[in-house]
Amino acid sequence: MSIQNLSESTIAIRGGRSLDTHANSILFPLYQTGNFVHDAVGVDKGFSYSRVSNPTVDALENAIAALEKTPSAVCFRTGMAAITTLFFSILKAGDHAILSDVVYGGTIRLFREVLDHFGVTASFVDTSDPSNVEAAITPATRIILIESPGNPTLKLTDIPAIARIAKHHSILLAVDNTFLTPVLQRPFELGADISILSTTKYIDGHNATVGGSIATRDETLLERLRLIRKTLGTIQAPFEAWLTLQGMKTLPARLKLHGEGALRVAQWLEQHPAVKYVNYPGLDSFPQKALALKQQRGSGGIVAFELKGGGDAARQMLNHLQLCSRAESLGGLETLVTHPSTTTHADVDAQVRQALGITDGLIRISVGLEDPHDLIADFEQAIAASC
Ligand code: PLP
Repeated sequence: MSIQNLSESTIAIRGGRSLDTHANSILFPLYQTGNFVHDAVGVDKGFSYSRVSNPTVDALENAIAALEKTPSAVCFRTGMAAITTLFFSILKAGDHAILSDVVYGGTIRLFREVLDHFGVTASFVDTSDPSNVEAAITPATRIILIESPGNPTLKLTDIPAIARIAKHHSILLAVDNTFLTPVLQRPFELGADISILSTTKYIDGHNATVGGSIATRDETLLERLRLIRKTLGTIQAPFEAWLTLQGMKTLPARLKLHGEGALRVAQWLEQHPAVKYVNYPGLDSFPQKALALKQQRGSGGIVAFELKGGGDAARQMLNHLQLCSRAESLGGLETLVTHPSTTTHADVDAQVRQALGITDGLIRISVGLEDPHDLIADFEQAIAASC
């Protein structure tokens, strides 16, 4: 049976999975070991040291590759380890990268605090207008990284339009697909060369691990990523890989419920008199609704909104939540509510944040799988207490 013809829910459970040859256990075993014995000098069973590779991490890579529909994937200790290893694999001193201006704060910090010091430059541009990308290209540009939807405002970028520009200039296009995963958005079908996931979020889905993955159809790049991962020591740990293998089996089912809950919460917020605006691709009022329908297969579980009372009201509301958790991450079963300007994007210059819409009043909700009715009741009482 060809895996390509199976539905996504089947692939999430069965794709790339192999039986344990030792005891036929239904779950692939956890190889919690640092090293592997050589049968003789130069003779081993394909594994030597867990900084280089590990069977449980390999199993996760095969499962993610099945979902991404790529020959292979490479897994990392965190999403940031994946992004760091990618840039160290591709860029050298004098090179230039173009990134979406609305992007995870850690990716911005990587350029400002690390890559800048190695002579690599970056332009952060509003990739929602492809002409900005075209204008930012220099002879030194090697890679474009877009995040769509962007964290935390949910601004979208037209992936096929950027892919056409990248191909025309022979520049690699990477998409950070953490918010939607391959289930709700397929970067390779839209023309991208590289797909990045923070598996910490929806792939694991249980707030149990941190991790990252990179998938590509470019075998040379895959080899280079493995070499740099071995050198930087950024490989995923076996136990985290094992947990992620279990969590990702329910990814399509969870995303369906996350999407339904997020729409209910977004619609309720939108009609509330204390709410200034709500950003959610599933709402008719979403400014880039047509683009969402064109390139996404669902709206995801993240909602961004502001209260009319701005930063003060946002802090009050957050402090009055009783059921939802004030926390930084996203994509798990528990609803997490984040204040990006003091957490995920705190290191971004305040003026830049303001210009990008990451205001002091912006609130990001990762809608979990609790009953939306209970979530709405919590927001109702917290907003009432903040006004
Ligand atoms: N990419 C996006 C879109 C994210 O939201 C995050 C973290 O929030 C990352 C990358 C970094 O992933 P990690 O926290 O697993 O290092």
